Amino acid sequence: MQSITIEKALFQAYQHIDKIDARLLLEKVLQVDHAFLLTHPNQSLTSQQSEQFFHWVTQRLQGMPVAYLTGQREFYDSVFRVSHAVLIPRPETELLVDLALDLIPVDRVCKILDLGTGSGAIAISIAKHRPLSQVIAVDISLEAIEIASWNASNLQVSNVHFLLGKWFDELSQQKFDLIVTNPPYVAENDPYLQQGDLRFEPKIALSAGCDGMDCIAHIIQSAAKYLVNEGWLFIEHGYDQAEACQLLLEKASFNKICCYADLAGIIRVSGGQVDASS
Ligand code: GLN
Repeated sequence: MQSITIEKALFQAYQHIDKIDARLLLEKVLQVDHAFLLTHPNQSLTSQQSEQFFHWVTQRLQGMPVAYLTGQREFYDSVFRVSHAVLIPRPETELLVDLALDLIPVDRVCKILDLGTGSGAIAISIAKHRPLSQVIAVDISLEAIEIASWNASNLQVSNVHFLLGKWFDELSQQKFDLIVTNPPYVAENDPYLQQGDLRFEPKIALSAGCDGMDCIAHIIQSAAKYLVNEGWLFIEHGYDQAEACQLLLEKASFNKICCYADLAGIIRVSGGQVDASS
């Protein structure tokens, strides 16, 4: 392959894929940042770099998510390794981290549980910003636990403990001040699963029963047993599941039931506090 400059490689890629995607792919191939691309338009790619870049551009054109090509995604203020075994962290999920950080004092030990941790993005972001907290992050997938553990050690976050298991099954008698979760919540037959990045993501992390509520319902029904008095549960859910979540929270005797909208104005997280008298 003939040598090609950064500017020309990007220009060619722009004919086929989104500009931001092309830039992220080239940054990863060259191991440089955006500023470098902007300031070195005439630098040539080696033939190996150019082959890798255009191979990724072709894969992207066929739908493969950028994060699976580069093996990474930014979330909150860190870069997380991802693979096909885990969901790609979404910007809207940062809301869950913000809510958790609002609740967790900086100067006190708090026990936090993250259910279905995937890449570990939520658990690790919380642990990083609240170094005194003790976070347990659970996932049913061994590959996910391996990726999440890698992310924690790469980001030098040591106050997260990863646990292989289904939801609460491996937790015995432990109680937490806060439970957070971004469980699978897309309905099994939702055509949305056949679109965009979701086609390449693990179904086990995305879909849950005919209305998408199976895991959410299980978590809400079981959570109180694992919360201290006045402990909180926050759940991320689909754009049309806020009401159903809130009903389940009421039925499970949660108090102070609340919901929060993401940056797009969609109610994305519902939660409640366990009834101190129950
Ligand atoms: N928020 C994801 C999406 O709608 C779904 C993730 C999930 O089911 N937890 O693309």
